[in-house]
Amino acid sequence: MKAGIYLHIPFCKSRCSYCDFATDVFKNAETVERYVNALCKEISNSRFQIPDTENQKPKTKNQIETIYFGGGTPSLLSPKQLERILNSIHKKFSVEPEIELTMELNPATMTLETVREYRSLGVNRASFGAQTFDDTELKRLGRKHTANDVRETIELLRNAGFDNVSFDLIAGLPRQSLKDWQRNLDEALKLKPEHLSLYLLEIHEGTPLAEQIRSNRQPLPDEDLAAEMYELTIEKTARKGYAQYEISNFSLPQRESKHNSKYWLCEPVFAFGVSAHSFDGERRWANERDTAKYVALIEKDESAIVYEEAIEAASEFVFLGLRMMKGVDLAGFEKRFGVNLLSKYAEDIERLRSLELIEIAENRLRLTNKGALFSNEVFAVFV
Ligand code: SF4
Repeated sequence: MKAGIYLHIPFCKSRCSYCDFATDVFKNAETVERYVNALCKEISNSRFQIPDTENQKPKTKNQIETIYFGGGTPSLLSPKQLERILNSIHKKFSVEPEIELTMELNPATMTLETVREYRSLGVNRASFGAQTFDDTELKRLGRKHTANDVRETIELLRNAGFDNVSFDLIAGLPRQSLKDWQRNLDEALKLKPEHLSLYLLEIHEGTPLAEQIRSNRQPLPDEDLAAEMYELTIEKTARKGYAQYEISNFSLPQRESKHNSKYWLCEPVFAFGVSAHSFDGERRWANERDTAKYVALIEKDESAIVYEEAIEAASEFVFLGLRMMKGVDLAGFEKRFGVNLLSKYAEDIERLRSLELIEIAENRLRLTNKGALFSNEVFAVFV
């Protein structure tokens, strides 16, 4: 099995009101440089190994087929810093020639020259948060870009040679009507990205948005409206040739995110940086969440891992696999775990089938359309 690599870049120009990611407001270039040094050191000193699930001969180096720079705002890295990180990865791992290399970026933070340099360093997929095409909503969310910056970012990326671009939109924002959401979708589809991530707003405790809702300055999200938005999303994207391949992700043919698919297929992902979460198919572990503490630990040659657990791989395989619209491969499950999935979870599967939340077709267990709307209830059964 081949692995993916995730690198967390925890700096943003400012903080968005709904965000609970491990990210700090960008203070100065030295802090970023020190962080990049720590990241390279963590990569070089890592000793992760993909478990042998297929009785392959032991490999001296893990094979890597996806690299993903997430954050935060990875496009705050200079091309030189990006190059140093990539060099550390190439020294430590065996990187496939046809790798998918994604970088998250923020609209209105890059020049054409910088984006061209990223591209020449091998970045071949760009992903960014558009969130909404309504400037008032963007302001409310604490985003620094405008709707026009999103259009310009797509143009910039195309001019720099990117033919695999993805962006995110959030549905169910406070005071957003179905008509507003429809306008957002139309604007997004007009830009013809290869991939779209369309999320329903989640309220995370401790964020400014959660506080605004608690103090009645913003309304609570309306679940029925969110369901209507979700249905409209599926219908509109399909009409333009996008396949919904995961609950919140839509792509043109062959443009699914290979890196994110690794999570849903329970394949190994080694993650580096503050708060980075790794998974090797048998264990999950996570790094320190505070950037200064993370850097200090790595500089002292200590491990930044603060949490580790063995996982119940079979149930992870099911509930993560159910996120994909094609569902869980029943034969693949039996091969990997030596047991029939339908027998192992017979009672739960029968109950969910009678509620029309899941179905079995083409030797796969998958969510129905109704199940996709109530997916959290289905997943809870297998967690
Ligand atoms: S840009 Fe992204 S990571 Fe940064 S604060 Fe906003 S939502 Fe969070």
